[in-house]
Amino acid sequence: MIDHRRLGRELDLFVSDPLAGAGLPIWLPAGAAARHAVEEYVRELERRSGHQHVYSPPLGKRELFELSGHLGYFADDMFPPMRVSADDEFVLRPALCPHHALVFRARGRSYRELPLRIAELGGMYRSERSGVLGGLSRVRAISLNDAHTFCAPEQVGEEVAEILGLIRAAHAALGVRPAGFRLSLRGPGEKYVGDDAQWARAEELLRDALAGVAYVEAPGEAAFYGPKIDIQIVDAAGRESTLSTIQLDFDKPERFDLSYTASDGSRRRPVMVHRSLVGSMERLFAYLIEVHEGAFPTWYAPVQLVLLPVDDGQADAAADLARRAVDAGLRVEVDAAGSLGARIRDAARRRVPYLGVLGPREAAAGTLALRPRNSHPLPPMPAAEALAQITHQAQLPLPLPFPLPSPSPPPSPPPPA
Ligand SMILES: [Zn+2]
Repeated sequence: MIDHRRLGRELDLFVSDPLAGAGLPIWLPAGAAARHAVEEYVRELERRSGHQHVYSPPLGKRELFELSGHLGYFADDMFPPMRVSADDEFVLRPALCPHHALVFRARGRSYRELPLRIAELGGMYRSERSGVLGGLSRVRAISLNDAHTFCAPEQVGEEVAEILGLIRAAHAALGVRPAGFRLSLRGPGEKYVGDDAQWARAEELLRDALAGVAYVEAPGEAAFYGPKIDIQIVDAAGRESTLSTIQLDFDKPERFDLSYTASDGSRRRPVMVHRSLVGSMERLFAYLIEVHEGAFPTWYAPVQLVLLPVDDGQADAAADLARRAVDAGLRVEVDAAGSLGARIRDAARRRVPYLGVLGPREAAAGTLALRPRNSHPLPPMPAAEALAQITHQAQLPLPLPFPLPSPSPPPSPPPPA
């Protein structure tokens, strides 16, 4: 059966070492190269859709997470606070929202800045029981593709619709096939903040955003601060989990006393929309490794081209071509050890998208015989043309396939008559 843990080992993507700890995998160079390309794509997608990126630390003072409600409502999923002195305790954060609320609060805000989209690919920690941990799909140290939009209440509908569009674009680019949409609602019990009116309003906004989309309702799956749209995936073993999410939060803006100056000069409370386009890098890759069976699309393949000189006579030509490929932005290797047949089989085992065979004739003529991963070997072509062909396939899948959203401040009141 396809299992990302087995493929991760075979393809040298990541390693789980008991000495490092369960649920704390280490990304090896091949896995890191693929992840780097995906991060670059996501960051660029976000930049083009009006997000501003920040960096914030994965550790913060206890008081920050008391204020955010995490210690009151989410402590079971967190590592215990660390006491460093009599009056100082630190917490490994279980979410990025508290820091992003501080970004909003860092200075006065005007309605003209809204929606303000703050994005970060940031580290966070969840205290998962060791029994549920496995490979990359369930981990304790999480690198989350996260963003928080601070907007006026009347902007929420449009913002959620735009986020759904971005999620669709990212899924199409990466090869994610969602198993379904879920509207996650409150369930019985006391583990939720906020009043009924807030919850009803947030739920109605999300239902409107889902008009025309098939979805199921999941009582008890909401965040402690609000309902959410979850986009589910199913792994090769049939286990369902959430990859992408959009969450409405009226509570944190209250707790952090966030406000902006409206066009009439009054102070207003923004709404906070939490969203992740592709979830954590760990869960995303657990899924991508399985769905592609390790054969990633060229643009995020760890190695995109392996050059195979037929014998020592082409060593210089291969090194020269590898240099040109690196300069063109490609991830390339030269494999010169062993029989040509064994090297071709090894590159195929590693799911490398392009092999380039260099015999005496190719070296003399400045050509290359390409073998694409999923089709027949091509006749030799000028090396520059071969590199251009691969470079084209290696481009990040941008620009966006939909019109760019433009920040639209809420309409100003009509001028006085
Ligand atoms: Zn959040």
